[in-house]
Amino acid sequence: MLLTGTVVADPGTVIEDGAVVVDGSEIAAVGGREELVDRFPDRERRAFDLVAPGLVGAHVHSVQSIGRGIADDAALLEWLFDHVLPMEAEMDAEATRAAAELGYLECLESGTTTVVDHLTVHHSEAAFEAAIDLGIRARMGKVLMDADSPSGLEQDAETALAESESLLREYHGAADGRIRYAVTPRFALSCTEACLRGCRELADRHDGVRIHTHANENREEVEAVEERTGTSNLRFLDEVGLTGPDVTLAHCVHTDERERELLAETGTVVTHCPSSNMKLASGIAPISEYLDRGITVALGNDGPPCNNTLDPFTEMRQASLLGKVDALDPTRLPAERVLGMATAGGARAAGFDRIGALREGYRADVIGLSADRARTTPIHDPVSHLVYAAHGDDVAFTMVDGTVRYDDGEHVGVDAGEIRERATRHAKRIAERI
Ligand SMILES: [Zn+2]
Repeated sequence: MLLTGTVVADPGTVIEDGAVVVDGSEIAAVGGREELVDRFPDRERRAFDLVAPGLVGAHVHSVQSIGRGIADDAALLEWLFDHVLPMEAEMDAEATRAAAELGYLECLESGTTTVVDHLTVHHSEAAFEAAIDLGIRARMGKVLMDADSPSGLEQDAETALAESESLLREYHGAADGRIRYAVTPRFALSCTEACLRGCRELADRHDGVRIHTHANENREEVEAVEERTGTSNLRFLDEVGLTGPDVTLAHCVHTDERERELLAETGTVVTHCPSSNMKLASGIAPISEYLDRGITVALGNDGPPCNNTLDPFTEMRQASLLGKVDALDPTRLPAERVLGMATAGGARAAGFDRIGALREGYRADVIGLSADRARTTPIHDPVSHLVYAAHGDDVAFTMVDGTVRYDDGEHVGVDAGEIRERATRHAKRIAERI
């Protein structure tokens, strides 16, 4: 296939009147349209206003999709323990499957081709199957909770780790490597030290497995961890082995100087979730400072109950605007930097090579956008357009690993209406029970 349009190959490389050639699951060439049409004359051609790398949602909760709107206007710990965890505890395998499918549909139709997905305690296999079938690229894992958790979700550490390892053996590397495993403890407050150390050991026993958890999201959480462990959250996570280049930490809003040094020294990846941080009034993460210290930062929508959308374009815009207003400096977090967080930064958070840019030899994760509305006219600077003006609704085409998953407003190969109906049915049933 040969995709034409203004190509944003990466935040620093824009090709006006460009093209991307896809061969199987890889990108065969990126360059000027005329030259590539000459070189590849027989390819099926598709034209868009903009062609860009698929975006990475580096911290999402697909299985919370059926909870969109169940817990607005609440603070984190109340939001979590009174609304979201009771919902997860009520979810059976079918509800988990429907919720994950709904989440992946939303991602694919709004330009996200890769997710780092924080699942739930039970029935996570249903979400793995959903990701395999719907075609999204995913780093995902079952959630571990072995302390101070609702009775329907708490497990002993041994059971939680054994279930994780079993899922890891079953799904890590599935779908030609499109699916990869992350060991996923919920957060320090819902896990014992033994469980967290067990997470590190489990990840180390298997090649290419990452660790994904929440950290330093909210002041109350940070104080509670300090009271329990006698040290700060990130120092504690570092002591038990949950820092390093194979670790993705969502949020990192409230960190002290030593914790920031630790993130930089250990090469830990941070996922910034600006909409969630604003909606839960968690605070403003010091993202410019992290980037200046050389810390890799990715972007995530977090879950539909705290956002309430998985649109990655919203997240890019919010990240930039929040960084500017925080510093009272409009030069902070410019569009190129933010697009880098949603692409190359996300690739690091997800632990996939050769994604996050359009380059020869990279995986063919590509999106095509249209710009045929008043809101999207004119386009002076395509990178600015993607970060400040575009919406997920502008995405006309989504390809993952060389397979077209969304085309001209329609999901390919799945009945999206049926999935939405099924998800709504489970959402209503569960909402009534909680
Ligand atoms: Zn989260």
